[in-house]
Amino acid sequence: MFYLERLPCPVLITNCNGHVQHTNQDFKRLVKPEDGDNMDHYFPPACRIFLQTHAWPLLLKNGEFNELYMQLLATDGQLIPVMTNARISDVEGKRIVIWLFFVAKERQRFEAALLKARHDAQETAIKLAEVNTELKHANAQLSQYATEARTEADQFAHLSLTDPLTGLGNRRALSLNIEQWVHCASGESTGSLLLIDIDFFKQVNDRFGHAEGDKTLRKLAQQLLDSVRSQDTVIRHGGEEFAVWLPNSDKEGAKLTAKRVHDHISRVQVAGQHITVSIGISSRALNEKETETFLEQLLAQADTALYQAKAHGRNRTVCFSELEPPPFNYKPRLVNTIYSVRKMT
Ligand code: GH3
Ligand code: MG
Ligand code: MG
Repeated sequence: MFYLERLPCPVLITNCNGHVQHTNQDFKRLVKPEDGDNMDHYFPPACRIFLQTHAWPLLLKNGEFNELYMQLLATDGQLIPVMTNARISDVEGKRIVIWLFFVAKERQRFEAALLKARHDAQETAIKLAEVNTELKHANAQLSQYATEARTEADQFAHLSLTDPLTGLGNRRALSLNIEQWVHCASGESTGSLLLIDIDFFKQVNDRFGHAEGDKTLRKLAQQLLDSVRSQDTVIRHGGEEFAVWLPNSDKEGAKLTAKRVHDHISRVQVAGQHITVSIGISSRALNEKETETFLEQLLAQADTALYQAKAHGRNRTVCFSELEPPPFNYKPRLVNTIYSVRKMT
């Protein structure tokens, strides 16, 4: 009967004749001390009659009843209204009756507490749903910010590698490209760089204005793009200088590209006159010991070759590896005659 002590209400155990077998502590606290072994003395006279005429017949007929209103006699003689549940059970071969009493006042308190708990739970659920909606909203906004930040970062990255006038890559893009190639290419690979400088370009600006000069630079950029392979990189090196990086291309390949560049650029005209360029080529095999200085050497050699192309009369290509000494009277920027360009032959 130990489990009866754990029930949160007064409990009485009788046999099927109403003889008391056991009471729990709650029951003992609530009612008058036992007086004889019949359960009747726990109830006032009116309730005893109700027991005999109604409760017992119902219990014996159905084996149980629920929620019958009755009264118990308290220790101080007061009447305690209770709702009563009773059930006949077989325990260790004996038929017993378990009586559970719910004190009305206590029951109201429990029901009120239960109602309040349910109400609180509903309110909490509503608040949770609201918080959840807000969280979803905040999450969507965060994803949007993240996407915008990524797009901006991509745009900045693109801008930092792009020349705004022509849309070509800039020097940084060239460095990144060559460094990447140096990192990935095998020891025997050769790469070539073309440095391309427009001949007498200052005179284009001087005669036709800066805007026309800009337009010419853009046309030239397009012609350069049309002259190279898909794996090659064309960049604006600054001012009216461009560079073309030819990965896995030796001197002969570079010369062919330079020829195509001259051909394509001859299509660009300013006021009916053709533009020409001078090109310096450097072709270098990848040497593992020189990977750090590869780009530096390549640029320096191409620049020297370009200088020689200018010195030898412009509108031509010079390879660093085929260099001849420049003419003693070379003055690269000493062109003060009116703009005149040689026609391509
Ligand atoms: P050379 O044959 O010796 O190269 O003669 P050049 O006139 O091309 O050389 P110089 O360095 O004397 O002049 C380069 C000119 O390029 C000077 C400058 O006005 C022009 N230039 C540089 N950047 C730009 C640009 O962004 N737009 C325009 N329109 N002109 C530019
Ligand atoms: Mg220049
Ligand atoms: Mg020039």
